[in-house]
Amino acid sequence: MDAPQRQIPAERQVVYYAGMALIAIGLLLFLSTFVTFLANFGNFDGHEARMQSGALRAFGGIVLTWIGGFMRNLGAKGLAGSGILLDPEQGRRDVEPWSRMGGGMVQDALSEVDLVQRIGDRRDPPEPEVKVRCQACRALNDETDRFCGQCGAAI
Ligand SMILES: [Zn+2]
Repeated sequence: MDAPQRQIPAERQVVYYAGMALIAIGLLLFLSTFVTFLANFGNFDGHEARMQSGALRAFGGIVLTWIGGFMRNLGAKGLAGSGILLDPEQGRRDVEPWSRMGGGMVQDALSEVDLVQRIGDRRDPPEPEVKVRCQACRALNDETDRFCGQCGAAI
């Protein structure tokens, strides 16, 4: 039995970042069609050809973004983890570093909430408890007690 995977392997990180780059290129390609369209607004020379190249670039951009998203998911969760290989046991191991990151971030968020609460507590300190000494046995009782906890005498 091998040790639990603590880090996402280097080749998966490469796939992840390559996917991110593809998404960026795809988005730029997609957006560039609008720039071309605006730059040539009202210019009808070669309109047809521009429309075609624009449509091609927009489509190519969408496909690149889609492939990039797929690669990013693959890099983050691994072959089995993203459901490409049907191997639940390997999938669990593949996803482990990724889901642990998610869990870690939830933990961070929770500790932040805890910190905010502690700051709030400091600003509003609890009221000091008032103790009442029993007349009969001198034992200390809460101010809300009606009878002494030590000897039972009425306070
Ligand atoms: Zn008492």
